[in-house]
Amino acid sequence: MSTRKYFGNWGGSYIPEALHETFRQLDIAYQQIRNDPAFWDEYTALMSTYSGRPTPLTHAENLSNHFGGAQIYIKREDLNHTGAHKANNVMGQGLLVKRMGKTRVIAETGAGQHGIATATMAAKFGLECTVYMGEEDVLRQRPNVFWMEKMGTTVVPVMDGSKTLKDAINEAFRDWVTNMDNTHYVFGTACGPAPYPEMVSWLQSIIGQEAAEQIVSQHGKLPARVYACVGGGSNSLGIFQRFLEEEQTELVGVEAGGHGLDSSQHAARLCGNDASAGIAQGYKTMFLQNDDGQMLDTHSVSAGLDYIGVSPILADLWEKKAVRFEAATDQEVIEALDLTMRKEGIIPALESAHALVQAFKEAPELSKDEAIIINMSGRGDKDIFTIAHAYDDPSWKEFIIDRAAQYRK
Ligand SMILES: *Cc1c(COP(=O)(O)O)cnc(C)c1O
Repeated sequence: MSTRKYFGNWGGSYIPEALHETFRQLDIAYQQIRNDPAFWDEYTALMSTYSGRPTPLTHAENLSNHFGGAQIYIKREDLNHTGAHKANNVMGQGLLVKRMGKTRVIAETGAGQHGIATATMAAKFGLECTVYMGEEDVLRQRPNVFWMEKMGTTVVPVMDGSKTLKDAINEAFRDWVTNMDNTHYVFGTACGPAPYPEMVSWLQSIIGQEAAEQIVSQHGKLPARVYACVGGGSNSLGIFQRFLEEEQTELVGVEAGGHGLDSSQHAARLCGNDASAGIAQGYKTMFLQNDDGQMLDTHSVSAGLDYIGVSPILADLWEKKAVRFEAATDQEVIEALDLTMRKEGIIPALESAHALVQAFKEAPELSKDEAIIINMSGRGDKDIFTIAHAYDDPSWKEFIIDRAAQYRK
């Protein structure tokens, strides 16, 4: 078996000449782990002792009764170490780095969640770690920068361009060209040049493998629908892959609708009208760009879904109509989050709440003996600043002002 470079019309590997040999070696190393059953055993053992795997599948009985339709089940990726599915990808790539004998890792991060996950992995495996982050994001995501630095990672603010994620990705590639002998680039999602889309999706496929077994043992049959939020596409592909061949299961990806699909303030690549095919950051996909190929500014209340591109694997599944894509607005996301906290005592990440929105819209149309699964990609603790702001909570504001005053004295 060899790595798939193209997924239908999408994907590829558009990389600088200087990185050809590095990518060739990475591809060989990936083929070795992929074809070695001992790797998967080592990986699952690591995830069961260092992270929360297998993560539970929770029957959300109160929400199910509230909507009066399908039985709602939540796959709890929030119970992973560092609070999201990102740990799956990062720990898997950590094991790969060990096998390749490299001593340093680099990563890009937008909101900082992938940076934190990579920093934990580097600390555990004794690797040197540098994380590139747009200067804007460094300012906006101070708590994550703080933890990365405390775990021994060097965080480098990127001053180019819009000073956000896409600039950080470019800078990480520049570093890699210079340091490819000892360095591995831990890419954060199922995007980028081959073999990253396939490799990251494969590492995340542990989610769907567990979920399929769990739903059959808890509910007696496979789900009618599976919902997941779509940023780069790794958590959605993680749960979707296992169900792709299952006729009775419909797959639904939910993108960031921001202020609405007509507002031009969103990050909907596959279900809106503002994206078109293009090649950037080493691969071909649907990008949010203007007619000249200039990348547009995206918006989402959730930093993790705020990205111009999308996995080439999802672009292919979209074109083949194997996955249905929808969007949830910022406002709908806050409402779904509120309901989930009150009914189930679960605090979803803003990203994951996009999947909840769409599932809640559709649950009433299904019968009570059907099940649906929502992939809860992460927990909401990280979003306390944004969520408290959205609630316009006066006592929270007072707390922030009071804290700031302590440092002004
Ligand atoms: C990073 C992140 C996402 C988006 O990434 P995908 O690659 O699309 O999964 C979604 N949810 C959470 C909680 C995240 O941290």
